[in-house]
Parts: sequence; structure tokens; C-alpha cells
Amino acid sequence: MSFFHHRDGVLHAEDVPLPAIAEAVGTPVHIYSAAALRHAADAFSSALGAIPGTRFAFAVKANPNTAVLRLLARAGYGADIVSGGELRRALAAGMRAKDIVFSGVGKTDRELTDALDAGIGQFSLELEEEGQVLSALASARNVRAPVVLRVNPDVDAGTHAKISTGRRENKFGVAIAEAPAMYGRLARLAGLDLRGVALHIGSQLHDLAPLERAYRRVGALVAELRAAGIAVTQVDLGGGLGIPYAAGEIVPSLVDYGAMVGRVTAGWDVALTFEPGRVIAGAAGVLLTRVIWVKPGAGHPFVIVDAAMNDLARPALYDAFHRFEAVAPRGERMVANIAGPVCESGDTFAVARDIDRVRRGDLAVLHTTGAYGAAMASTYNCRPISPQVMVDGGDYAIVGERRDPVELAA
Ligand code: PLP
Repeated sequence: MSFFHHRDGVLHAEDVPLPAIAEAVGTPVHIYSAAALRHAADAFSSALGAIPGTRFAFAVKANPNTAVLRLLARAGYGADIVSGGELRRALAAGMRAKDIVFSGVGKTDRELTDALDAGIGQFSLELEEEGQVLSALASARNVRAPVVLRVNPDVDAGTHAKISTGRRENKFGVAIAEAPAMYGRLARLAGLDLRGVALHIGSQLHDLAPLERAYRRVGALVAELRAAGIAVTQVDLGGGLGIPYAAGEIVPSLVDYGAMVGRVTAGWDVALTFEPGRVIAGAAGVLLTRVIWVKPGAGHPFVIVDAAMNDLARPALYDAFHRFEAVAPRGERMVANIAGPVCESGDTFAVARDIDRVRRGDLAVLHTTGAYGAAMASTYNCRPISPQVMVDGGDYAIVGERRDPVELAA
């Protein structure tokens, strides 16, 4: 289901025509659909929520906009955070501290302390020494930190190397073979309340098989820990489900994912946590942009738009595909390269792509930019941080102001 659709020849977000937003707010602008966010959040929690005690922690890194987090908090979501900044964002958006889980391979003492003081619900440990430091910090405050140990199951998620996190050579988690002995040692630390294990093998996964393999390895680890007399009450299964970016791109359905999780975790007798990011926010956003020039090129013309890699880094980072669509298409097509104004050839959204024919001044969108879009924005080339708008039915509001690079600069 898409909440971005043409009505009377003009692309709308829900009931709002996009030219109205361009006129009022300017371009480029990230636009979110509140209905799309609610729909995705409810679909995910309905597909996975059969087991009592299951928790949903939205991966804030995917979209840290406060209005987005507030909406997800109302939908029953907590937060998966990876920094002190994300902790403050999640709390400011009304997420309860006990619904916040802290992932991240390099948490500083300051971040650990702030999270302890806030009373968050889970720390996911990345190494034994982190557990020792956290235990000491917690003991000094007369509290016990709720902790799980993130394991690296050494599974190839079959995704882009830069967003793969569960192979032995990746920096995340502790080797699963070392986990039982380490878990035993961590369980003896006075400042830790060691509850279970966590994993996350990568993002934009197109296949459930690697996830199932990783989950089964974790199931075996839980059984091994229990056989050694260690209590395990929680398992965090991470995020990672892929979404379709291109027309016809096949990704796992939530129903199939839910069925796989149910099958694999039957008998684990633990409370499960999920950390979805992309699958909640990705399809709920578009990046609205205006064509500056259609510039002749050696092969194909260059459609130079006013959005750039500083607004949407995924194509430059991962050669990612984002569908391009004219806001008011005229029914004609062209083959073109689509690029932004930044002074790097990598600032290219598409090469030799068959698209709606556009002219100077036309509006167009890059689709599926709600996750890892505005979240990765920068002021590279002294460009502004683009505004963000949330549409809800026939209304819209600016939920992120345009930020002037000169004000932000040192
Ligand atoms: N949890 C952790 C620990 C992550 O590193 C990530 C992102 O890579 C996520 C959850 C969210 O992943 P996704 O957006 O693919 O669901």
C-alpha cells in the first residue's frame, strides 16, 4: 500500500498535493506520511507480537526525527539507540526509558552513565570489557544495569558489505563460540543484571534464510547457557528486514517473517525484542526536489536536481536505487542520468535510467527515503540541512526546519 499516489495527475502525500508543500516550504524537502508510519508500525507489531512480553524498539538511526519518534511511541514502540544523542531524542519524543535498548559498538563512559541515570531497559554489550566498565559504573550508583550480550553468529546476510554486521570479520558482537564462557564471567559481576543475548546481522535483507540460520545459532546458545545453569529470559533479534526500492523487488513478507520467528523461537521461553528501522520508516518518506537543469551529456542528458548526496547519501554510499517520479508527469519518457549539484561525480542518483520526461523547474520525487535519508544529512558543500514535513490526512506540518550551513559551521 502506498500513501504517495497521483490524483488528478499530481502526486500527493495522503491528501496533500506535493506542489503545495514545495511552494510553502521550498525544495529539497523530506516528506513523511503519518498514515504510512502508523500502518508499517502496526503491520510489524501485529506480525510479530503473538508472544506475550514482545518489545518493539524502533532503530532511531533510521529516522531520528522527533515527530516520527513521537508517532511511533504512541504506536507502542520504544527505541533502539546507538548514541547519547539518540538517547536524548528518544526521551524527548516521549519514549519511556524502560523501552529503550542501547546498541552500539563504541559507547563512551559518558553515554553509559547517561543511559544508566535515565534508567533504560537494556544495554547490549559488545565486549567483555564494556561489561566490566558498565558494572563498575552501575555499582557506584547502587543499581544493576539490565544487560544482554550481543553475539556475532558469523552468518553472511547476503546484503551490501557496508551494511552487513553478522560476519566474523565485522566489528559487531562477540564471537558466538566465546559467548558461553564470557556470559558466565559477566553473570558474576555485581553491577550487571544479565538477561540474555542479542544479535543483528545486517540491513536490507532480501532473504529470511540467513536470519533463520542466525536465530537457530542463538537458540542453540540459549540452550547451552541453560544447560550450564544460567538463566536466560530475553533475546533481542535485531532488525534488518528489507523493503522494495525498485518496482518488482521481492522482499520477505512480514507474515513469512512472523511465521519463521514463531517456528524458530518456539520453546525458547524468553521475551523477544525486535529492532526494526527501515521496514517501519523507509516507504513512509519521499524526497521532493526540483529540476534545476536538463544538461546535455555525452551519452544521456543529466537531470540536475536541487537535492544532492548531502540530502540522501544512500546512492553515493551503497549504489542504492531510489525510484524517481515526476510530480506532474506529462506521459512522456526519457533516458537520463539524475544527479545533484554537489561537486563529486558520486553525487548521482541514477545512471541511464528510463524516467518521466522532466524539464527545468519541474518537481519530482525520489521514493522510499524515509529511512537512512534525512538521518544521514550533512552540510557538505555548505548546503543547508533540508527541512522535513509530516503529512497527516489533509494537513501537514514542518517537523524539521531548514538548517543554515553558515549557522551550523564552526
Ligand atoms: N539494530 C541494530 C543493532 C542495527 O545496527 C540496525 C541497523 O543496522 C538496526 C537494528 C536496524 O536495522 P534495519 O533498519 O535494517 O531494520
